[in-house]
Amino acid sequence: MRSRTPDRLCAEAVDLARQAVVESVGESVVGAHLKANADADRLVTHTFECLDPAYRGWHWAVTVARAPRAKNVTLDEVALLPGADAVLAPQWVPWSERLLPGDLGPGDLLPTDADDLRLEPGWTGEDEPAPNSALVEAAEDDLVITDADIQSPPARAEIGAVADELGLGRPRVLSRMGLHQAAERWETAYGPQTPMAQSAPASCNTCGFLVPIGGSLGQAFGVCGNEFGPADGQVVSFAYGCGAHSEAAVLPAPPVPSELILDETVVEPLHIHPDRTSGSVEPDAPAEELGHS
Ligand code: SF4
Repeated sequence: MRSRTPDRLCAEAVDLARQAVVESVGESVVGAHLKANADADRLVTHTFECLDPAYRGWHWAVTVARAPRAKNVTLDEVALLPGADAVLAPQWVPWSERLLPGDLGPGDLLPTDADDLRLEPGWTGEDEPAPNSALVEAAEDDLVITDADIQSPPARAEIGAVADELGLGRPRVLSRMGLHQAAERWETAYGPQTPMAQSAPASCNTCGFLVPIGGSLGQAFGVCGNEFGPADGQVVSFAYGCGAHSEAAVLPAPPVPSELILDETVVEPLHIHPDRTSGSVEPDAPAEELGHS
C-alpha cells in the first residue's frame, strides 16, 4: 500500500501529542518521539517510547487530527500499543481446541458440534413412514401385486428392534473420518509398533484372551480380557501382543513320582566272611542272624 505523506500541521504537533500523553500517564514513562504516521488525510499518529519497565517493547500512540481548511490541530486519542518485540499474553485458544484426552472428569459434559466431522447421521427410523401412512398406501397403489408378493410387511416397531440390535437407531454415528482417527489412536496405544508388541511372543489375533468387537473396526481390533496383561479392558490391534498371550508359555507338567518299591520282605544273603564257603550259612536261619541290607 502506498504510504501517505503526513499532513504538515498534524506532523508538526509533536508537543501537543506529548502533552496529551504526559497528562494521561505521567512524564516519567514517556520517552523520545519515535515517528509520525499518516493514518488518513489530516489524521496523524505520533509514537513515543514507553519507559514503563512493565511494558518493554510497547509504545505510546497519540493520534491528532485537523478539520479541512482549519489551522488548529486537535487531539484524537492516546493509546498504549505493542511493538514487534513486546511481551504479549499467549493467543487465546478456544477450550475445544485446548482439550486433551484425559481432561474430562466425573460430572463434566463435553458437547459435540452439530457439524462435528467425526460424526455423521445415523439411521433412527424417524424418516420411515408409518406402516399405514398415506405415503405407504400411495406407494402400494402404484404397485402391481402378485400372489408371491402377498406377505405381511414388517411393522416399523419390528424394524426398529432389529436396528437397535445392530447398533443402529442413533441420531449420529462415527463418520469415516471418525473411524479412521479412532483406529489411528488405538493403533498408536496398542499397535504393532509399541515396544510391548515388538517383544511379544505372538500377536493378539491368536490369543484366547482377545474379545471380538462388532462393526468395521472389529476387522482389526478387539478388547483384551486378560487381567494380567498390559491392556486389560483396552481396545487392542490384532497385531498387538504381549507376554501374557494365552499360548505364550505352557507351564511344565508336574513331575510324576516313581513307583514305590518295598523290598523288605525278601531275604538277601550277606556274606560277612567271603573266604568261608557259602555252605556255612543256613538258608533257613532267622533274619536277625543273617543280617539284611
Ligand atoms: S493378553 Fe496380550 S496377547 Fe492376549 S489379547 Fe491381551 S494384549 Fe493381546
